[in-house]
Amino acid sequence: MKILVTGGAGYIGSIVTEYLIEAGHEVVIVDNLSTGHREAVDERATFHHGDLLDGDFIRGVLGDGIEAVCHFAAFSLVSESVADPLKYYRNNIGGAVSLVGAMAETGVEHFLFSSTAAVYGEPDETPITEDAPLRPVNAYGNTKLAIERLLADSAGAWGLKSLSLRYFNAAGASRLHGEDHDPETHLIPIILGVVLGVRTELIVYGDDYDTPDGTCIRDYIHVKDLATAHVLALERLAAGVTGAVNLGNGQGFSVLDVVRAAGEVTGREIPYRIGPRRPGDPPILVASSRRAEELLGWERAQPGIETIIEDAYQWHRTYPHGYGS
Ligand code: UDP
Repeated sequence: MKILVTGGAGYIGSIVTEYLIEAGHEVVIVDNLSTGHREAVDERATFHHGDLLDGDFIRGVLGDGIEAVCHFAAFSLVSESVADPLKYYRNNIGGAVSLVGAMAETGVEHFLFSSTAAVYGEPDETPITEDAPLRPVNAYGNTKLAIERLLADSAGAWGLKSLSLRYFNAAGASRLHGEDHDPETHLIPIILGVVLGVRTELIVYGDDYDTPDGTCIRDYIHVKDLATAHVLALERLAAGVTGAVNLGNGQGFSVLDVVRAAGEVTGREIPYRIGPRRPGDPPILVASSRRAEELLGWERAQPGIETIIEDAYQWHRTYPHGYGS
């Protein structure tokens, strides 16, 4: 298939691109490089530097034989979205509206959407199934949910076929690509930054949550497993499967569990101090991925937190200051 990947210069988009190409697909990347990296663009893909908000540009790209779209391009920092919601509504929702509109005009009907566990907010039950109430607690989650609703409405209006993949905590790295955000807010790259001496400290955001050790529990999923889920999801989408599926490990690790595991993987004592809670952080987010297993035939190859940290560590050792290193 000829697939448009928006945000292919970003963390998950670059790794999904790698896997799509290895599965035999032709990939066209659109990225405005506002948060992505030119170095992360796969050499085997066709690259267009441009913005989704530019309707003429995106119609031109889609009109050149694109059969399906994987949409990653979005801002994704929860704390930034709380401080500056307009930035998120403009870019995330605006970009998706422009892209889906251009798909309607050019007759491209298949859409794989990079959604998030943040659509659930603070769930009543764990593990979270796709039928749980959708009540985001931050602007980032609200923009992703609004896009899921746009996709459902477009299905009714003109026959768009979409699958929304609700990621839990993507982590790890592939052979070629890893995580490089500015600013970096994610736990594992921050811990590895401390290990590699490019960061001075790790602050654990709160140890007074209602969890066994008082720190937040998350479901860390290897980005390589996310990538295989996308390859399967595109096949299933072409076969008529639509809707939303969770992508997680089904296993929760507290912040201190991750710090301990990183200590074992790297052979280093990791210093940290306890700070205040971070606004917008739900105490526990763990996925049920049964639907993804059943609908997509998805099997995780890298379930262990140690493998996730080990692969991330390899990448960060090669690029301690990110892609520019
Ligand atoms: N976290 C932390 N210190 C950090 C970064 C993250 O204690 O420097 C915690 C954060 O509060 C959350 C967990 O680690 O409970 C995972 O956060 P991350 O930002 O990696 O992912 P999120 O769950 O927000 O998507």
